[in-house]
Amino acid sequence: MLLQNKKVAIVGGGMAGLTLAHLLQLKNAAVTVYERDRSRHVRDQGSTLDLHESTGLEAMKRAGLLDEFYKYHRPEASKLRLIDRSFNIRFSDFETDFAKITAETRPEIDRGPLRSILLDSLQPNTVVWGSQFSSMQKVGNGWLLHFKNGTSAYADLVVAADGANSRIRPYLSNIQPVYSGITLIQMDVDDWQNNTPSLFAVTKGGKVMGFDNEQMLGFGTRADGSMMAIACFKTPENWLEESDIDFNDRAQVFAWFKNEFSGWSKEWHEVFTNDGTTFIPRPQYYFPFNQHWETNETLTMIGDAAHRMPPFAGEGANVAMQDSFELAEVLTNGKFSDIKTAIAHFERDMVARGADATQQTLDNMERMFAKNGLEQMVAFFNRVKAQVPAS
Ligand SMILES: Cc1cc2nc3c(=O)[nH]c(=O)nc-3n(C[C@H](O)[C@H](O)[C@H](O)COP(=O)(O)OP(=O)(O)OC[C@H]3O[C@@H](n4cnc5c(N)ncnc54)[C@H](O)[C@@H]3O)c2cc1C
Repeated sequence: MLLQNKKVAIVGGGMAGLTLAHLLQLKNAAVTVYERDRSRHVRDQGSTLDLHESTGLEAMKRAGLLDEFYKYHRPEASKLRLIDRSFNIRFSDFETDFAKITAETRPEIDRGPLRSILLDSLQPNTVVWGSQFSSMQKVGNGWLLHFKNGTSAYADLVVAADGANSRIRPYLSNIQPVYSGITLIQMDVDDWQNNTPSLFAVTKGGKVMGFDNEQMLGFGTRADGSMMAIACFKTPENWLEESDIDFNDRAQVFAWFKNEFSGWSKEWHEVFTNDGTTFIPRPQYYFPFNQHWETNETLTMIGDAAHRMPPFAGEGANVAMQDSFELAEVLTNGKFSDIKTAIAHFERDMVARGADATQQTLDNMERMFAKNGLEQMVAFFNRVKAQVPAS
């Protein structure tokens, strides 16, 4: 095995890093995950994820974790409604078999349980919490990694799985991300049943999306009684810097929202009128399609670190998890003579996969953020629904 007597450091314990760690441990590799979060109990945020058959779900299958996955699978989260800016429902699959079929082919799971399943699959002490990577230097045949907490660790092979703003990526590539033209405000709401009752009434555990005039609002619930809402809009790249909004100040964010989304119905205001909401602004970037960097036998990257993209096709976590099983495969299948050849093979396919998913994302974005985005999206989902055989 190429990794015999080698120490592997995976930096970042997100979907990509944890999946890779487990798959490598199944092949007896010595793996440590260095994660910035202080512990596994840091509050879970973010969207419910639908795992796709050939990517995210395939990763869970190869990891032997499908049974665990289905314990936490949320069929109701596949249900979708599209609404207009006045909160009228314009598309709904709540009453049809469409959502049932989607739940089978692209099953949904909350991020918290998914991360827990992956963490529980690892050998004890695999994850070193509170290890925020700051820099690394070449030492012998590998790297000495330095963390913000003052500790250091040696590894023969480093895998960057530290997400969209990867600190390790620059050691491999100086290709900069491209701004997509869209900024997204992520809004995580506690106890949505009480804090956002009007939204609760329309969602029934599923997802709701509204489009109009180059803007989008949406939300989806999580099993723990919280939800994630998003507000997305076309704006220049420097908007965040220049807006001067303090996103820890709910009143400031609400004032901005009422102005930016002025024509939208008041139901959305519930997100801003309770203490249980936190806000994270996320300008959306993607990496160019024709990325290339020189293969390094001691360093590679996976997931958002390698191919960040906006979330408008629901592909990011899925291709990240595919990276994990493809990298584990080339490093352990005995088909490659050395690590450099294995990584070169992996990276060539990964860059192409990332570019495909990014293209799909940008195509969706064009539809969603058109002036007639709602009509385009309603027509799109009606076409998909029409292809579903009646039961
Ligand atoms: C609002 C929103 C909705 C989304 N919806 C979907 C969806 O429906 N479907 C889908 O497939 N994808 C979706 N995505 C994209 C998806 O979240 C990402 O593509 C996915 O999380 C990438 O996984 P990753 O493991 O590469 O990175 P991450 O999940 O970002 O994990 C990176 C990890 O590295 C850690 N880290 C960061 N910096 C350091 C450091 N310096 N040192 C140590 N550790 C560090 C972080 O704490 C984190 O645990 C969405 C994204 C957003 C923002």
